[in-house]
Amino acid sequence: MKSRFAPSPTGYLHIGGARTALFAWAWAKKQQGDFVLRIEDTDTERSTQASVDAILDGMNWLGLDYDEGPFYQTQHFERYKAVIGQLLAEDKAYYCECSKERLSELRETLMQKGEKAMYDGCCRDKKCSSGVVRFKNPANGVVVFNDAVKGKISIANKELDDLIIARSDATPTYNLTVVIDDHDMKISHVIRGDDHINNTPRQINLYQALGWDLPEFAHLPMILGSDGARLSKRHGAVSVMAYRDAGFLPEALLNYLVRLGWSHGDQEIFSLDEIIALFDLKDINKAPASFNEEKLLWLNQDYIKNATSEHLIQHLNWHLHNQKVDTNNGADLSLVVESLQDRSKTLVEMVEGLKMFYQEFDEFDEKLADKQFKDKAPLEALLEALSQLEAWQADEIKAVIKQVCDKLGIGFGKVGQPFRLALSGNGNAGSIDLVAELIGKSTTLKRLDKAIKYAC
Ligand code: GLU
Repeated sequence: MKSRFAPSPTGYLHIGGARTALFAWAWAKKQQGDFVLRIEDTDTERSTQASVDAILDGMNWLGLDYDEGPFYQTQHFERYKAVIGQLLAEDKAYYCECSKERLSELRETLMQKGEKAMYDGCCRDKKCSSGVVRFKNPANGVVVFNDAVKGKISIANKELDDLIIARSDATPTYNLTVVIDDHDMKISHVIRGDDHINNTPRQINLYQALGWDLPEFAHLPMILGSDGARLSKRHGAVSVMAYRDAGFLPEALLNYLVRLGWSHGDQEIFSLDEIIALFDLKDINKAPASFNEEKLLWLNQDYIKNATSEHLIQHLNWHLHNQKVDTNNGADLSLVVESLQDRSKTLVEMVEGLKMFYQEFDEFDEKLADKQFKDKAPLEALLEALSQLEAWQADEIKAVIKQVCDKLGIGFGKVGQPFRLALSGNGNAGSIDLVAELIGKSTTLKRLDKAIKYAC
């Protein structure tokens, strides 16, 4: 058993592409088969190296490892040429010299008559010697196949015209190259978006003309945006790496993607092992799936909450580097991460939350400071009492806060809130005693002092 992901490198790795890759990957893994990555770069005008890199980076970040590849179709031109030559020699293909003008006139006329715009086979028997190469699609009969998702599909051959398999510059077209590679690479399962379903009958005719066995086909339902239109840039981030940049964990994104068009009862959380064990083509929905950013965020939060700090740090490192946050000096990063796990929906939020442990902030949030530093007595009492504290531990710090409350005859919030603002600059901090412990004694005292100065 072998499946493949065959993206065209003409942009970033799109969420829909990643979902296709994940389904093909999971199906291969489940059956201990192989998964192939093939870059379909024959359109040399639209393909770019940056896009190839984006695809490889995206696959790598998601952890969708391939057993074979990456293969590049541009390296197979000789093979395609040979097959085109064979089809011509066997009279299964022919050169067509019809001019652009003739073809557009033909299209106009047919459309005016309310008919489907199809090539009329004008050059079929003319024995032309140059131009594009067209495949002689069978004139009669029906192409029938059993799609693993959509079920039985039949298309009459008279609905299909003679497909161009090589352009006039001799470069092969998608429908031919995909058939040759899927055959040569012994792909048993072609799993792809249902935007290709209309190509499949044409491809089946090519397999048959070449005398090759057919793979299984599974066409995945579309992904729609919140407004019901096909998911696109208009709906926000659609590139996989934009989700990395926004602080998503790859396993949260994979978990989200696997549920786009596939389900297993009402289970929502799937580890990678569960995806592999439970995934089945027969459970893919026929109906389009809807992309729901909030659900993805909810999953991400859940994954962050339940991950080990080591795992989070592995993924945080990229963000820390990117935002130039140096965590080498100061609090133990694992403890800081643990203190933030319940409070962070994304890794970007986590980085925001951990900055105060490693960086000085310039200014206090003015609005909050005007309110919370109005009375500087709690800050002064805290500074005084904490500077005497020897055992710098959260429970001891908490006891000191309590003593200050008792001494001043005020509630915990009246001391805790100004303290939180003094340490964080913006009031965003978790349990204040733990924060103070992690920040350390000298920085805590320094920031209290800074707050008192501000209050004056
Ligand atoms: N290269 C095609 C695309 O990116 C996919 C072809 C296929 O999976 O058959 O749409």
